[in-house]
Amino acid sequence: MSRTVLAAVMPAPHAPVEVREFAEPDLPPGGALLRTARSEVCGTDVHLWHGRLSGVPYPIIPGHVTTGTLDRIRGSLADVTGRALHEGDRVAFFDVHRTCGRCLACTVHRTPTRCPSRRVYGITDSAAEGLFGGWAQKVYIEPGVIVAKLPDAVTFDAYIGGGCGLLTSVHIIERAKLTLGDTVVVQGAGAVGLSAAALARRAGAGQVIVIGAPADRLALAMRMGADEVIDLSSTTPDERLARVLQLTSGIGADVVIEAAGSALAFEEGVRLARNGGAYVIAGHYTNVGDSTINVHEHINRKHLDIRGCWGSEPGHFLRALSFLERYAADVPWRRIGGRTYPLDRLNDALADAEAMRITKALVDPGLSGQRSDAVTFTGVQEIGRSGDSRS
Ligand SMILES: [Zn+2]
Ligand SMILES: [Zn+2]
Repeated sequence: MSRTVLAAVMPAPHAPVEVREFAEPDLPPGGALLRTARSEVCGTDVHLWHGRLSGVPYPIIPGHVTTGTLDRIRGSLADVTGRALHEGDRVAFFDVHRTCGRCLACTVHRTPTRCPSRRVYGITDSAAEGLFGGWAQKVYIEPGVIVAKLPDAVTFDAYIGGGCGLLTSVHIIERAKLTLGDTVVVQGAGAVGLSAAALARRAGAGQVIVIGAPADRLALAMRMGADEVIDLSSTTPDERLARVLQLTSGIGADVVIEAAGSALAFEEGVRLARNGGAYVIAGHYTNVGDSTINVHEHINRKHLDIRGCWGSEPGHFLRALSFLERYAADVPWRRIGGRTYPLDRLNDALADAEAMRITKALVDPGLSGQRSDAVTFTGVQEIGRSGDSRS
């Protein structure tokens, strides 16, 4: 008798997300099925909903960063160190798969995130091919996907609170090449900006300044590791520049991290960096149009180093897990997840995320038929539903 799995499907851009039934797949050798504990609604999902990403094979089951327990394994499954994984293990998997390892990008340019064969769960995998997304009771883990045990200290909510923003931020910090004591300005206080601030602090930054809004996100930025916050909504670009200069003895930031996804943020960021500083661009995941800068003044004469940062590699995923384990008690990752939604309330989740009513929506397919506003993060804990079982 074939079993069925419920999944939330995004049929097409602008169309409402709907819950559909899928047959539980037959597994090939080396394949596995994950029982989803948590997935997330990130900014990319809002872009997917509006059709702002090209080459997306709708219908899709969104949810690229996901965690849960191994439900079924056919044959054997191991992590990257060769350690065997077992049914019932709490795990996370790396959403990027089918990176070829043979093309120009993979071998010569060493930019595997630009590999043309690369696919991403929940974004470039079609629902027509099966359970390739985390907005589902179960997710198909195809052979070759990188799976890792979730450290005991890391709850499902903490992992997803970090989520794709954390993986992105591990890559950002690598690109930033921080030197001990650097002043880092983070533009943006969303999931990426908050994680980047937390990582910059632990990577040895002397001062972390976060520019963003609204006020509750800035308060969370302070708890994540920022020393100073500047409210985007009540200051002008000139006032923010003056404040950064004041905090850096008139020099400017050693490193500026763009995690805002706005053309105006770039125009401002080049001014915030010091002479010879670095600017890492991580927020422009969709085309938001042109930025206008004076190249002489802001790049050449400034000797500015501008670096793009696209996607994540397995090392970023595994380092994120190590980091979460080490700083589980110090960084309030779970607070980034504002509210937890069942599968049949994900249209609300997308609307709430877009309106910035929450920093990030969490998805718990174990919840059903409840009003999303009744299952805020603390509510889930209080009513004891789908808690972080570590069995
Ligand atoms: Zn390749
Ligand atoms: Zn994401």
